[in-house]
Amino acid sequence: MVGGGQLARMTQPAAVALGVRLKVLAAAPDESAAQVVNDPVIGDEKALADLRAFAAGCDVLTFDHEQVPPAWLKALEADGVLVRPGSAALLHAQDKGVMRSRLTALGVPCPRWAIVASPAEVAPFAASAGGDVVLKTTRGGYDGKGVWLVTPSTPAEIVEEPFRAGVPVLAEERVDFARELSAVVARSPHGQAVAYPVVESVQRDGICVEVVAPAPGLSPSLAVEAQRLALTVASALDVVGVLAVELFETTDGRLLVNELAMRPHNSGHWTIDGAVTSQFENHLRAVLDLPLGSPAARAPYTVMVNLLGGDLPEVYSTYRHIMARDPELKVHWYGKGVRPGRKVGHVTAYGAGLESLRERAWHAADYIRGIIDE
Ligand code: ADP
Repeated sequence: MVGGGQLARMTQPAAVALGVRLKVLAAAPDESAAQVVNDPVIGDEKALADLRAFAAGCDVLTFDHEQVPPAWLKALEADGVLVRPGSAALLHAQDKGVMRSRLTALGVPCPRWAIVASPAEVAPFAASAGGDVVLKTTRGGYDGKGVWLVTPSTPAEIVEEPFRAGVPVLAEERVDFARELSAVVARSPHGQAVAYPVVESVQRDGICVEVVAPAPGLSPSLAVEAQRLALTVASALDVVGVLAVELFETTDGRLLVNELAMRPHNSGHWTIDGAVTSQFENHLRAVLDLPLGSPAARAPYTVMVNLLGGDLPEVYSTYRHIMARDPELKVHWYGKGVRPGRKVGHVTAYGAGLESLRERAWHAADYIRGIIDE
């Protein structure tokens, strides 16, 4: 797995259970996954020589993030390395412009969009898109970095910001959404695919803070449509591994695709505790071309709340209280340095009774973060 973040870290227990050796290419020995795998390889995922040296010791190469240059992935494939998902599929998760034009060609519903070449093109697009727009750098953004909301009163210097990175800028209509959903599927090279229950993901400042599985009150027809969309995209793009399709449920009951991720995804962390087969295990099974495991939920509801770095005190000392208070709660800590807004862990509660699961998960998260003290 290229990348030493928490996704690689959470893949390790699944690899251990299957008796599969997970190797990780990490940027530093103290990275989240480098702490938990044997002999992490320390290197630069943007350097072809480092990627080649790493791949030489692997049967199949997969990813914890999308930041590997597409040209290097093609070079590895030309070397004969089994890259999963392949470079042609992964490009759609690396470049939002490529993603939008492909999805539109496939007839998959998206927000109205255009590639804008300069700040001067933003206002005409806004006029055609009905008002406010969202500008996105097509490459390199994550967790809301690289996303700007532009309204008629937005100062010109803010509208210019996305263009400074020197990569094409995607403009989208600002979608009037009721909530954000995510459809996670896993697909293997021979085309078997499984779809997890569609979840609701709650974002704050562009970062996911809470996931509820399944999305409460989602109509069965929209749930099936979301799963069908994700399966269609996985197959049309020949995705291997986990594909997360982030969706908007509009106020008038339609689904629009926001973006794609081709790796285990934050909206699937609930599956570790809440599903028969976790997204991490199914990602491994898929890239190894093993039969996929059941994506069925273990309980009527699972609530996952992210722990975001901020004024986090020392965390271990909070375990005594939250574990004693709620023996059924599951805590996941990524071993990362704490920085404001950074995802450093999550908690999960599953069972029946959505409101009490929510209360328990948020209580634990707030206690760990020092927001409450009892
Ligand atoms: P990132 O790649 O940084 O996760 P996203 O494209 O997912 O960026 O956007 C981050 C968040 O910004 C979304 O979760 C959503 O809340 C909001 N957002 C993105 N695009 C739109 C849009 N077209 N209309 C309204 N809100 C949007």
